[in-house]
Amino acid sequence: MKFKKSIYIEPVAYPAAQRKTFDYLCSTCWGTLRIWVQEERDLYIVLCGECDEDTRGFTHKAEVERKRNDDHFNAQEVKKAYPSLDPNHKEKKSAEDNIKDLGL
Ligand SMILES: [Zn+2]
Repeated sequence: MKFKKSIYIEPVAYPAAQRKTFDYLCSTCWGTLRIWVQEERDLYIVLCGECDEDTRGFTHKAEVERKRNDDHFNAQEVKKAYPSLDPNHKEKKSAEDNIKDLGL
């Protein structure tokens, strides 16, 4: 792969770059990281596949997983507290109302 410049990310040796791609995700979009080679210096730079040269930093995969679990938990709490905000929410109707809606 061809080297890309990034004003936010420092080039590193290949083992460190490889470790980054295994353990971290993009801190901005949680996207997968890629390694770019800087041939003349035998150094490598790790960038997000989505953010590319705008990559600002990395977040450990365990932290991303924890945040996703927190977000899921919070979404469940909001659904319980405000069921009408849930797009899949269907108001429960009585049997009489259902029969009335059918025009019977
Ligand atoms: Zn990104």
